[in-house]
Amino acid sequence: MKKFQGISASQGIVIGKVFFYLDEYLRVPEYEVSPEEVENEIERFDVAVLKTRDELVQLKKSLTKDGGITETGIVDAHIMMLEDPELARQIKKRVKEELNNVEWALHETVKSYIEILKMSSDEYLKERTYDIRDVAKRLLGNLLYKSRISLNSLSEEVIIVAHELLPSDALTMDKRMVKGIATDAGGKTSHTAILARAFEIPAVLGLSHITAEVRNGDQIIVDGTSGIVIIKPDQEVLESYERKLKQWQKKEVEFLNLNMLAAETRDGKKILLKANIEVPEETESVLSHGADGIGLYRSEFFFIQPGKLATEEDQYQAYSRVLASMENKSVTIRTIDLGGDKMMPGTAYFQESNPILGWRSIRFCMTRKDIFRTQIRALLRASVHGNLRIMFPMISGVEELDQVLDFYNEVRTECDDEGLKFDHNIPLGIMIEVPSAALTADILARKVKFFSIGTNDLIQYTIAVDRGNERVAYLYEPLHPGVLRLLRTIIEGAHSESIPVAMCGEMAGDPYMAVILLGLGLDVFSMSSFSIPEIKNIIRSVSMAQAEELVGTIFEMKSYKEIDRFVKGWMNERFEYLKQQ
Ligand code: PEP
Ligand code: MG
Repeated sequence: MKKFQGISASQGIVIGKVFFYLDEYLRVPEYEVSPEEVENEIERFDVAVLKTRDELVQLKKSLTKDGGITETGIVDAHIMMLEDPELARQIKKRVKEELNNVEWALHETVKSYIEILKMSSDEYLKERTYDIRDVAKRLLGNLLYKSRISLNSLSEEVIIVAHELLPSDALTMDKRMVKGIATDAGGKTSHTAILARAFEIPAVLGLSHITAEVRNGDQIIVDGTSGIVIIKPDQEVLESYERKLKQWQKKEVEFLNLNMLAAETRDGKKILLKANIEVPEETESVLSHGADGIGLYRSEFFFIQPGKLATEEDQYQAYSRVLASMENKSVTIRTIDLGGDKMMPGTAYFQESNPILGWRSIRFCMTRKDIFRTQIRALLRASVHGNLRIMFPMISGVEELDQVLDFYNEVRTECDDEGLKFDHNIPLGIMIEVPSAALTADILARKVKFFSIGTNDLIQYTIAVDRGNERVAYLYEPLHPGVLRLLRTIIEGAHSESIPVAMCGEMAGDPYMAVILLGLGLDVFSMSSFSIPEIKNIIRSVSMAQAEELVGTIFEMKSYKEIDRFVKGWMNERFEYLKQQ
């Protein structure tokens, strides 16, 4: 038996047989062409681009029948990469100037693109290398007259183990037969991860060397919830996972039956459960998990494109797509939150000695007003396509908020003067993730229509513990009495001015926290769409009276250890399945 820890990319447990997917390796020929042959090489390239384009259009058509925007969006992105004039220009330049055969020119050009992307500290951009490789492989296949192995005709149910799974493999694979995915490469924001979530196939990526340890047909367990993969499990482990799997399946069915029901406590308090998304492709999964809207769209993941800033038009298209696909449910788009742990690739921005406390997020936007203006304009224009709310991150006090609101109004007036159509009543809100904002919540609440608590940062700043540093992770404790007191201050401050409070940090999707947050008076929980049914089930199983009593008890306690122990016991007693996880 061997156990591996990877990145949990798509939830769920699956036990099955390994299908070792060794994507066909295409050897790239390298030779010199004569100056007379250059024209012919370029023509071969153009023909292969057209053929590849046809293939992608066919692929898109076959997908459009089933209607998913996730899948067709990815194929569209591949067509755009294929038709990128700069890519073609560089390849042709190599053929002309260095007399490379076109396959080699393609290989070398794509390699340099990938190297640039890989240097990025932005995970999202890094993972676009799989898309570029995918397109290049198709193109190379057509230059060499080879068609690719496909995963679309599998004869039995399998768990795919591969070094990497390219987005087009994931798109075309037989979804009835692929029950799980485990790969060496990839991360949470790769398109393969997004597709696995959209198809609801448990997946663990980033396992680094799992392919070196498995054989076709081996028994394998993929636990997408905890990011664990086990090969050839021994009897005891197998039985324990079989039990877990049964529990999970039972739980899934029970929870999904709740989709059409409201998140309402036993004594009638209605809560809104919304979803967090990083890319527009996720909206399908948001709707299928019964979300009341999108509580956090992290626009910065989309905002920066490899080598260039997203234009107003790019942004307008993406925001409009999200708004239009959400069936008029509210969509809260957060303005750019770059810096800190989210760096902008290919620039020296944010290279500061203390970036978490430095020039990040709204501070960056207010000094790069050109970038901020472009985003606000795109948001305003997109507002006619749905139910938009705009949220500003990292606000630390009232002066800063006033300046942001003034700038927003300035851009709004400009758009009015230009005669652009937009919603004139877009609700504006702020994230509360800096302790000074939490402590002055009652003052800030007079200026905006809603709050959303970003516990990921709020906890980091309150306990002074870097949220990404493994060494101090033991201090990162949502149930620290200091954090709980701040949460209470924020919610009371907001309610004193009659504005609602959401939470979009990870704490909102943690089942152990749900009753406490209810008892504190939180109005909206926003989380990964997978977690929505589970949190709904918890909310529907308790009363506000119980939740308030629980909060009363833990506020008497002195340490997070004591609180943690008590809350775990309280929840495990009422929600048996939590014990098994
Ligand atoms: C947060 O800080 O809790 C939050 C939701 O924002 P992010 O994780 O993107 O910083
Ligand atoms: Mg944050």
